[in-house]
Amino acid sequence: MPYESVIGLEVHAQLLTESKLFCGCSTRFGAEPNTQVCQVCLGMPGVLPVLNRRAVEYAVKMALAVNCTINPRSVFARKNYFYPDLPKGYQISQYDEPLAENGYLEIETGDGKKRIGITRIHMEEDAGKLLHGEGIEDEAYSFVDLNRTGVPLIEIVSEPDIRTPDEAVSYLKELRDILLYLGICDGNMQEGSLRCDANVSIRPAGSTELGTKTELKNMNSFKFLKDALKYEIDRQVDLVESGDEVVQETRLFDPSAGVTRSMRTKEEAHDYRYFPEPDLLPLSVEEGMVAGLRSTLPELPAAKRERFIRDYSLPPYDAGVLTSSKALADYYEDCLKEFDEPKTVSNWIMGELLRLLNEHSKDISECAVTPRALAGLLSLVRDGRISAKIAKEVFEEMFLTGKDAASIVEKKGLTQISDEGELAGIIDDIIEKNPENVERYRAGKTKLLGFFVGEVMKATKGRANPQLVSRILKEKLG
Ligand code: ADP
Ligand code: MG
Ligand code: ZN
Repeated sequence: MPYESVIGLEVHAQLLTESKLFCGCSTRFGAEPNTQVCQVCLGMPGVLPVLNRRAVEYAVKMALAVNCTINPRSVFARKNYFYPDLPKGYQISQYDEPLAENGYLEIETGDGKKRIGITRIHMEEDAGKLLHGEGIEDEAYSFVDLNRTGVPLIEIVSEPDIRTPDEAVSYLKELRDILLYLGICDGNMQEGSLRCDANVSIRPAGSTELGTKTELKNMNSFKFLKDALKYEIDRQVDLVESGDEVVQETRLFDPSAGVTRSMRTKEEAHDYRYFPEPDLLPLSVEEGMVAGLRSTLPELPAAKRERFIRDYSLPPYDAGVLTSSKALADYYEDCLKEFDEPKTVSNWIMGELLRLLNEHSKDISECAVTPRALAGLLSLVRDGRISAKIAKEVFEEMFLTGKDAASIVEKKGLTQISDEGELAGIIDDIIEKNPENVERYRAGKTKLLGFFVGEVMKATKGRANPQLVSRILKEKLG
């Protein structure tokens, strides 16, 4: 393709504080509309905002996690616009002096790691929520829920370093993973706790100038982000190919139609008339506070992934799956403390465990099988007490009942049969019942061994030791 696309993301993340950014109202999601509001977040005359310390700490943690410089002084500013979800008529944000700047994070691409610059991270308050049409008690009206006004957000603005829709998705996923590891955002895109605006332009491949960008608003899933960008890039290429120009504008993605539509052009762009918030002092973040917060940072997803690959000799794919959440990674490492075969444990977690969690729509934190119990099951397999096939059955039972492997195996009589005499008897029986296949085997169709093994497994309900069975069969048939 003679064009390349250039993408920069603006990501809003809701911080998981108990109370709002400038008042004591609860931030809990899903409450009755307009029950979590007060004079401050409703913007009554004469009230004053008081900054939430925890929100600042969370914002600083994120900034450190993505290698930003924390500005010792930052300034809150009023961003003025009129909209019914904004009772004050302005949003308190940060503008020309943000909390943090000049960071980056690394994403994995087809050609290895790539660094995406982070221009800035600033703090701001969320607006309320408008409810229109369907599902509303009276479809002729729109309603406003102000529970969300004043909920703390950080906005993370990337450099235009992203080149493809896939890279954009990787970047957003990495950001989300970091937020979740830090425990400062729930990352729920459907509920709007994590929202993304994508800026995109195209230019002749190899050029270093930036083309005219459009901004795609409020993508609330990874898939929508990817689809919207793909559509928008194609649309821009078509425009340029047919001799037209891309117009700088804000566009909305319609997921059901799979298209983006113009929302407002440059001429209609808001003039926010930013000015410093007169009711708040400049925010001063001291070095001691930064150092203290830096020391609380957990091992982040990328570092954990690399350590898993290095220390446990896992394939990158396994390491990616196992570190997809901190809880899953912890579960994995707890298993290893009891059963030191990294790849075997990985296979079980990625296979059976994740399959069952998925089928039952459960999270690892709700898993009834403790790491010790899983290790117990794997030891039974390793010691030849049960076969791998039976182990899967036992595991499902463990998952459903929370019982340990040994007691299930005992109660159901599932122990592997490794007694040669007992197996020989069963095998004699099967040989006697299948004279034709025995004949064909002896005439050279040795592939029939599989058939005989199958018969033995059927007769023993899967409990026969398979290695032993093939050996005895080969002796007797040969
Ligand atoms: P605005 O003032 O319109 O919000 P900014 O310069 O602040 O624009 O950039 C907003 C986002 O858009 C950033 O993530 C930035 O990387 C990205 N961006 C800026 N210019 C371009 C461009 N020409 N093409 C793609 N993305 C861009
Ligand atoms: Mg913008
Ligand atoms: Zn309030």
